[in-house]
Amino acid sequence: MSWPPLREELRGLEPYGAPQLDVPVQLNVNENPYGPSTAVVADVATAVAEAATTLNRYPDREFSELRAALADYLSRDTPHGIVPEQVWAANGSNEVMLQLLQAFGGPGRCALSFAPTYSMYPEYARDTMTPWVQGHRETDFSLDLDHAQALIEEHRPSVVLLPSPNNPTGTALPPEAVTRLCEAAAGYEPGGIVVVDEAYGEFRRAGTSSALELLPSHRNLVVSRTMSKAFALAGARVGYLAAASEICDAIRVVRLPYHLSAVTQAVALAALRHAPELLGRVDQLRLERDETVAWLRGRGLEVADTDANFALFGTFPDRHAVWQGLLDRGVLIREVGPDGWLRVSIGTADEMTTFRDALTAVMGADGTATEEGTR
Ligand SMILES: *Cc1c(COP(=O)(O)O)cnc(C)c1O
Repeated sequence: MSWPPLREELRGLEPYGAPQLDVPVQLNVNENPYGPSTAVVADVATAVAEAATTLNRYPDREFSELRAALADYLSRDTPHGIVPEQVWAANGSNEVMLQLLQAFGGPGRCALSFAPTYSMYPEYARDTMTPWVQGHRETDFSLDLDHAQALIEEHRPSVVLLPSPNNPTGTALPPEAVTRLCEAAAGYEPGGIVVVDEAYGEFRRAGTSSALELLPSHRNLVVSRTMSKAFALAGARVGYLAAASEICDAIRVVRLPYHLSAVTQAVALAALRHAPELLGRVDQLRLERDETVAWLRGRGLEVADTDANFALFGTFPDRHAVWQGLLDRGVLIREVGPDGWLRVSIGTADEMTTFRDALTAVMGADGTATEEGTR
């Protein structure tokens, strides 16, 4: 028998993670390229110094102040408002979603999503010993609602994971889709929760509504958000959700004691006070995204419609060669998604210029031009 005595199904598996390489242009993990201003840095530092004076004590287990601040922030995206009892937070929305699987998944139940999608979802299921069911997306990466509904009715999942916009494709989910799938998951006993993962929600195109608006209509709807992307706070590890208060109460049963450190709470609160500044570049990133998409299409490439701060483009007969060619020119993107596709995060205007120049050089240089006639 092999040592250490790892669970059978985990043997030989690699931990999840994009390469963290020290290159000039990092467009691989959908971060906000703009760092905090000196004013934000100063306010965060003051908040941390204040938290440090009581670090001998455990933090507020209920993170009440932070929940109230997050509820306020979310209330801007729904006419119905969000109250603190509807909010839960953890160390990144990855932890929030793992907690959801811990509370609502488990052996004898199942969780469901539609591929291609975020590759962490099946890992939450595996780690909580929840059987995993995977449906598919259409060739334009949208959801066929008849297929989705039929799959939910067939498998009766206790958790459905629906990112909107989807990663790595950027595809947003229309509100009618959320409604239909929430109803499908409410159609059996005891019903399943539907998690709309809006990690990139703030980047959605004007006129696209947030699933937050639907919360009063569906007691099984959970909307997950993060401070890691639009909010430019990936390093702080803060994710959160809004849902019916019974769902937040259920998560409380599985969370570790004092899971959100006093430092994390202080940093998140300080950052939320600066929301307008931290989110100030979102419009600019949206514009840069739309320009990047148009430029890629102008080069004859296929690009998935995107409501996020990244674009999935292709297709390449040897995508790894293109990825490597870009890396050789100091540009790191992500080799992810269906075969032949690559994903680029939207950076600053300068970074995108470097990306375009590098891609032009790579595509012109060798046999890495697009596949003729694909899609
Ligand atoms: C980046 C991302 C998240 C956020 O992860 P954090 O743990 O909050 O940093 C969640 N869902 C998807 C689909 C993502 O791409």
